[in-house]
Amino acid sequence: MSCTASDVVEALRSGAATVAEHRDELVRLDREIGDADHGENMDRGFRAVLTAVEQMDVDSESPGAVLKKAATTLISTVGGASGPLYGTAFLRAATAVTDLDELDGSAVAGALQAGLEGVTARGKAVTGDKTMVDALSPAVEAAKAAAASGEGPSGVLAAASDAAHQGVAATEPLVARKGRASYLGERSAGHTDPGARSTALLLSAFARRQA
Ligand code: ADP
Ligand code: MG
Ligand code: MG
Repeated sequence: MSCTASDVVEALRSGAATVAEHRDELVRLDREIGDADHGENMDRGFRAVLTAVEQMDVDSESPGAVLKKAATTLISTVGGASGPLYGTAFLRAATAVTDLDELDGSAVAGALQAGLEGVTARGKAVTGDKTMVDALSPAVEAAKAAAASGEGPSGVLAAASDAAHQGVAATEPLVARKGRASYLGERSAGHTDPGARSTALLLSAFARRQA
């Protein structure tokens, strides 16, 4: 099975629902090591994304066009560090699949990899800095391996999601070296990174919905 523009809209719908469901949890995580707004930022952003992509005529659009609309909406509606980072991730993902009418497993893995490259280009975080990169980076590795073994979009996203959730758990003992949590120094250890958690939540939402 491959993934059409309409499947991308469904994935974003699932992502928006999951973010809304976990809004308070993300606020709580960000209260511990940040400024308690990550849930609010993400919920506002993904509501706006849904409104924007639902206005598109998906039957005449490509997956890349939907991802690009999501990107520009996130950049203009989500404040803070995470808005430009997620926006850049979606923008790079869109560019990676720009000429494709449908995405197979390797196109999905390629889009995830491009998204990670966007996040690291913009935020300069590496694995172990206690950021969303700690979820997204293992997700990309798992996605590429799944695609290489012949998985389609849903298998690739399921592998990415599982790896991302392990990456989230691994952020807990870390001392933050990027973003607002880094101001806490050693006191940031013992808490899960909110952006890593939202990345894993989004990937599992995308995986559930993907045909
Ligand atoms: P803010 O910190 O501006 O309030 P959010 O609370 O919405 O923004 O997002 C915080 C999350 O952003 C962090 O948990 C972390 O995962 C991510 N983040 C912050 N800085 C960076 C960075 N330089 N690179 C990657 N991710 C980052
Ligand atoms: Mg915050
Ligand atoms: Mg903030």
